[in-house]
Amino acid sequence: MKVFYAEEQKRHDPKFFLSSGGRQPNPEQPERVERLLEGARAAGLTVARPIEHGLGPISAIHTPEYLDFLKRIYQRWQHIEGASEEVIPNIHPIARTGTYPASAVGQAGYHMADTSCPISVETWDSACWSAWSAVSAADAVMAGESASYALCRPPGHHAFRDVAGGFCFFNNSAIAAQRLRRSAERVAIIDVDLHHGNGTQGVFYERADVLTVSIHADPVRFYPFFWGHADERGEGLGLGYNFNLPLARKSNDAAYLEALSAALRRVEAFSPDAVVIALGLDAFEKDPFGGLSVSTPGFALIGEAIARLGRPAVIVQEGGYLCDELGDNLTSFLNGYGSKAR
Ligand SMILES: [Zn+2]
Repeated sequence: MKVFYAEEQKRHDPKFFLSSGGRQPNPEQPERVERLLEGARAAGLTVARPIEHGLGPISAIHTPEYLDFLKRIYQRWQHIEGASEEVIPNIHPIARTGTYPASAVGQAGYHMADTSCPISVETWDSACWSAWSAVSAADAVMAGESASYALCRPPGHHAFRDVAGGFCFFNNSAIAAQRLRRSAERVAIIDVDLHHGNGTQGVFYERADVLTVSIHADPVRFYPFFWGHADERGEGLGLGYNFNLPLARKSNDAAYLEALSAALRRVEAFSPDAVVIALGLDAFEKDPFGGLSVSTPGFALIGEAIARLGRPAVIVQEGGYLCDELGDNLTSFLNGYGSKAR
């Protein structure tokens, strides 16, 4: 299995975010990359640089209006007197049916869901390379590899078609799934991040060709609050093609694996030609977010269970924050996956 990663992905360096109104250091730190690379190498994987794919595969998911905003907003923001260095929104439309604003402040509120995705001078490039890592990983699978790993950073699963949020700018898992659709009739996305993959759900909510399944801490009292509940099943053609499995806070390996087995039964019923694994490692018991209690050996069991599907897989890095075991948890997942992969 190959790792896809480009050095440019490390340059995005957000300084802070608001948590319950308090100013906190932003946990989506460049150092995550070092730990994850170490973890991948410890599992015997070799690192390859992705190809520069241009905006085509990104605009297959994100709107041109959003891409134009994201590319130019940092420079525009610098002309606002008294503005912060990083682009951080402070006003949001309560509904998205009003007029699209011309101003940088209005557009930031329109295109950014929360304060946790500050945009700095390096963000655009880092986000593009992160997406291109996902595209290259999908291409490797379409060329015959049984699995590949995209070390995507910044992460992606909270990004909607035209909204950034939760440390995410481009939805790398959605971009990989759409790329796989070139040769796969049906693709399933299995999201094991601590947080609900609300952006991914939003992108495919009315589609039947991409099944979205997410296991996460119950959003009734946890980010992203407004999405991730069990009664969200898709709409229109997509009704029945979205499956949420919210778990009680601090759920352990046993509870997690039980939910995973229900998730995988649904994936098997869909019979996908390929899968995308949205691999967050923040369900870990000592992750700073503290939402669930998966252990390091637990990640190996999660990897084994998903590998038993026997489908070509693109593994896309999502969350998982700085703690001593971050790299070990990736190694554990990849070794578990590799031990059962065909
Ligand atoms: Zn997460």
